[in-house]
Amino acid sequence: MGITAAEQHDRTVVDDLDPSGVLARVSEAETAERRAGLAKLELALQWCVLHPASPDTGTAVWGDAGLPGLDGSDEHLGGEGCPQVAAFAPEPFAAALGVSTFTGMQTLADALDLTHRLPNTWAKVRNLTVAPWKARRLAQATHHLSQQAATYVDEQLADRIDTCGSALIDRIVTQAAARFDPDPVELDEQEAKLSWNVHLTHRADGSFAGTSHLEATGDTLAFTKLYDLVCDHAHHLAELGDLDPLGARKAKALGVIADAQSQLDLFGQAPGESPPVRRPSLSRTRLYLHLTPSDLIDPMVPIGVGEVEKLGPATSRRIKEWLGSSRATVVPVLNLDRAYSVDEHDPPEWMRETVILRDRHCVFPWCRVDARGCDLDHITPYVPIDDGGPPGQTAATKLAPRCRRHHNAKTTGRWQYQRHPDGTYTWQGPHRACYLVTPLGSQALPGRADTSALSGPG
Ligand SMILES: [Zn+2]
Repeated sequence: MGITAAEQHDRTVVDDLDPSGVLARVSEAETAERRAGLAKLELALQWCVLHPASPDTGTAVWGDAGLPGLDGSDEHLGGEGCPQVAAFAPEPFAAALGVSTFTGMQTLADALDLTHRLPNTWAKVRNLTVAPWKARRLAQATHHLSQQAATYVDEQLADRIDTCGSALIDRIVTQAAARFDPDPVELDEQEAKLSWNVHLTHRADGSFAGTSHLEATGDTLAFTKLYDLVCDHAHHLAELGDLDPLGARKAKALGVIADAQSQLDLFGQAPGESPPVRRPSLSRTRLYLHLTPSDLIDPMVPIGVGEVEKLGPATSRRIKEWLGSSRATVVPVLNLDRAYSVDEHDPPEWMRETVILRDRHCVFPWCRVDARGCDLDHITPYVPIDDGGPPGQTAATKLAPRCRRHHNAKTTGRWQYQRHPDGTYTWQGPHRACYLVTPLGSQALPGRADTSALSGPG
């Protein structure tokens, strides 16, 4: 994208500024940013006003439901005391913002929470004395509080929100929760236990590098013992000559503990008993690796590069290490252009795999839900053969992955889409807004799409 004449003019003006000029301009820039943030929140609020929930529309919720008749099954956008918003109102708003539906819903929820639950803070956003992003941070921190507790936080923090840090916000929010929702400590502990979990995440921003992130929340004593064990192993690795930095040795120690544990009987060995036998593991580690076999076995290829699905490239050396300590299932290469069709509604496994590998994620604009968790949708609604449907309706080129939320958004007729021979998709939403989805990302289309070929509910 080139630089416009106005931008070039601004650039020249900035290059000419002296120190006092920079300070004046940066203050102006902050004010402009606050105005823009305020405008976005006011527009979000107006969008909610224009789309109230009714028995006919259903109610927008954070989960995947949102269809009429399912109103009570999930959490509404705004906190307690906020009006409810019609189902499928967030999708066009988010698409116009150029963000995921979830991010658009967060903007709508923040606007509702600020105006209906944090009026003092909202007044300061409106007169530009509080930065909108700070007010939104408060809205999200108080979202799960009762309205009474949110009012308390608003009164405590509205005058200080522009200068206080997140630690003070957290303290006041905790105080409010304890004061207005005086659950006994035991109940808090039971609730905290619901948040116990272990998450493994892989970098999806192109910086994979064979490295992943493990996050765990759980019992303080058990975790302290585990951490002490990790540090002990890391120290022992150094004694054995491992020259890696301490952080890397701690991460390796987790692998050492996992390897040792997988070969032991979890229930231990009583004195005098024979040595523990390997306990059959019920765990299954699954990574989808794409590589050329010659990269692994051809001595003329010193180091090849394969791909870990959804994550990024990995060297053949790293893949060999992984394969050496795992059982691998090898499947032949799928031809993604395979054009066969079948005369049944459900695609065969190879066709499903082809569509998943081709599109990788839900094909709604800006949605990144993994295709393996999506429904495969007939882009043109399937008509059973017995009802006069044509043969060959189920083919990879006629299927697309869509997450449950966006499956519902299309099924209710609000969104229509089309797949093109080059693998891109054109979507049209409410108010004739159009979007192009390509393997590289989504973009708004300025013109109006030709709707004649777009598929309707299905
Ligand atoms: Zn989706």
